[in-house]
Amino acid sequence: MSSSRIALPCPSRRLFLRGLAGACAVAAVAPRRLLAGLREERILSFVHTHTRERLTVPYFADGAYLPDGLASLKAFLRDHRTGDEHEIDPSLFDLLNDLRLATGSKSPFQVISGYRSPRTNTMLREHGGGVAKGSLHLQGRAIDVRLADFGTAALRDAAIELQRGGVGYYRGPDFVHVDTGRVRRW
Ligand SMILES: [Zn+2]
Repeated sequence: MSSSRIALPCPSRRLFLRGLAGACAVAAVAPRRLLAGLREERILSFVHTHTRERLTVPYFADGAYLPDGLASLKAFLRDHRTGDEHEIDPSLFDLLNDLRLATGSKSPFQVISGYRSPRTNTMLREHGGGVAKGSLHLQGRAIDVRLADFGTAALRDAAIELQRGGVGYYRGPDFVHVDTGRVRRW
């Protein structure tokens, strides 16, 4: 089997975890598995705690992001207070997909907050509540979620383990903030 394996450099464990060097993930598997990986379809399921809307959508297939899927997600994750939409960083969806795989959850992600418009962010800041001025929610790079079938503290631990961005744990309202900014935690 070893002769059929594909040797590709693995720059670092960090890059491997970030998925930037996806080749590393398949370096030790046979070409048939590699092809299966490229045909991989990534599907996410959500239920929004404010709008009560549900969405199950494939957003990646055959090695590429799906414009229709990303458009559905963009609308779903709009600022529910103002209706404003914003592009969402696709790597945020990959982060959620990997989180789903890491937890083994069969539940949809319950969304507390996705995109947040400047107007909403200012309003929330004026009412307190630990909302950051430069929140990555404003850039479509953050989401607050929980899972019905997986403890929120354990979800935080799984997110920290991924080392893919910021992870914030909010015990009272019971959700985890994840974003695609630099790796940090609070
Ligand atoms: Zn957040």
